Amino acid sequence: MKIPVVDLHAQYMSIKSEIDEAITRVIRESAFVRGEVVASFEENFATAIGAQRCVSCGNGTDALYIAMKGLGVKPGDEVITTAHSWISSSETISQTGAVPVFCDTDENTFTIDTRQLEHHITPRTVGIIPVHLFGQSADMDEVMRIARKFGLWVIEDCAQAHLAQYKGRNVGTFGTAATFSFYPGKNLGAMGDAGAIVTDDSDLANWCSLFAQHGGKGSHSIEGINSRLDGIQAAILSAKLPFLSGWNERRRAVAATYDRLLSDVPGLRLPEVADHRLHAFHLYVIRTEKRDALKDELARKGIATSINYPTALPFLPCYLNRGFKSDDYPRAFENQQRILSIPMYPELLPEQVQQVAFEIKDAIARI
Ligand SMILES: *Cc1c(COP(=O)(O)O)cnc(C)c1O
Repeated sequence: MKIPVVDLHAQYMSIKSEIDEAITRVIRESAFVRGEVVASFEENFATAIGAQRCVSCGNGTDALYIAMKGLGVKPGDEVITTAHSWISSSETISQTGAVPVFCDTDENTFTIDTRQLEHHITPRTVGIIPVHLFGQSADMDEVMRIARKFGLWVIEDCAQAHLAQYKGRNVGTFGTAATFSFYPGKNLGAMGDAGAIVTDDSDLANWCSLFAQHGGKGSHSIEGINSRLDGIQAAILSAKLPFLSGWNERRRAVAATYDRLLSDVPGLRLPEVADHRLHAFHLYVIRTEKRDALKDELARKGIATSINYPTALPFLPCYLNRGFKSDDYPRAFENQQRILSIPMYPELLPEQVQQVAFEIKDAIARI
């Protein structure tokens, strides 16, 4: 039995009538771009997160760019983000003309190491973008304490952490603003690209909404970009939203089973959930020195895995000119060689979880 890393079709089949009905309604009403369907998703999502406002946009990458533009980021500024993430977290900083400054990751949680954060702050620093990587919150008390101390804004990159919590509060409600991606494979996924910014700051929300839509309709008080959520995606997201917290529960149940079945495998390090966190398990990431051999063995047995991400941000070819060395970000460098994401999605069947765990144990014993 082949097991993928994520099975989007299984999710569709589980709520097919809701999705089909949502899509049909948008087509019937020709509500293709923006409009009432989109406005109602924005309201639903803001409520689900516990934020005052939600501004939808084309994707999670644009959400970061738009939020930074809204906060006035300009050439010459520096923005600190984590050394190990998806490229969106740093490429959008460069897009504003600012310089991405990387901070190494925490050994246990893969998120930004707040003990090192202050070392990266200079007079040019304007903000911090922590990423709740793999579905686990960064240490938001520390991030916010340091941000307040230095007068910096914070944008939480919540692309992998819909309804993850820190101290009983949803991520996305701590920073000045937060961004979400609804890329199909995310915990809340559209059937195409989609993203959003959430914030309690209504001036910021209004500006972001204007900027994402060419600076307004007719009266262009500012130049903007075209980054709109389309109606079909909004309708799909609204149809899926009521299921999100149950799906996250399923992910945690899958994680708990992996934890139990894999706890005694020599040389295998399982994901850790730090204090005060409710993990959304976008990914279940194990670490082993035998990563590449294990990946190959599992592939031979029909079990797909992925590496998120094989090269930490500072070491990507696009940042070669910055001259970063492995010693500058030792934790991210070490992790990029050891991490492996194993199948994780709400629809995984108990026997599939057991099969994955069995094959991992079996492979580790042989390689
Ligand atoms: C997916 C993702 C994004 C970007 O989202 P898109 O919708 O694909 O543009 C940003 N940051 C992180 C950490 C992500 O995982």
